[in-house]
Amino acid sequence: MSVLPKSVEKVINEFSKLPGVGPKSAARMVYHYLRSPNEDATQLANALIDMDENVCFCSKCYNVSDKDICDICSNLLRKSFKLCIVEEPLDVVAFENSAVYDGLYFVLGGVISPAEGIGAEDLRFKQLKKRVNELLKELKGKKLEIIVATNPNLEGEATASYIHDMFKKDIKGGTMVVSRLAMGLPTGADLEYADRLTLKRALEGRRSI
Ligand SMILES: [Zn+2]
Repeated sequence: MSVLPKSVEKVINEFSKLPGVGPKSAARMVYHYLRSPNEDATQLANALIDMDENVCFCSKCYNVSDKDICDICSNLLRKSFKLCIVEEPLDVVAFENSAVYDGLYFVLGGVISPAEGIGAEDLRFKQLKKRVNELLKELKGKKLEIIVATNPNLEGEATASYIHDMFKKDIKGGTMVVSRLAMGLPTGADLEYADRLTLKRALEGRRSI
């Protein structure tokens, strides 16, 4: 027989699925809600349901959005000759918060990682190809720069060279250049935690691959 009521255990179990949260801290969070007024838990539950029902992926960049085409993709002031490829939506947040980039994004949904069983087919490469073709058409011969902003680790590098190989023909043909963020970012560091200056330097020092 368990010491805790089933309903409490269920919430602890859900909280411990969060990244960086173990069963102990999950239990602490749950006790916080048990001690708080009832409406706190209701507000949390409602906020989660609201997010679940109203948030989708932008059909162009695959960032999280509450519209079919997100505010960045529909902003005509953004430079459509620059496409920054990131792993996750939080990387877009990092770039946007640091205000160092004025182009468009594409969220890949992760990186190629044989160790974790993630292959190219699990990521949005097909959608990327489609988006790139769309942009090339819009640019009418103007060069498109793809900036690969995957994290500076083994998987991030492997994914960057996969993207490079994917567009080899366009690079040779002169319609595209693929660049990689400079290693101002410490190896193994996560882009989403980089500060403004680090991101700015990484972006300015980018090199073609
Ligand atoms: Zn978008």
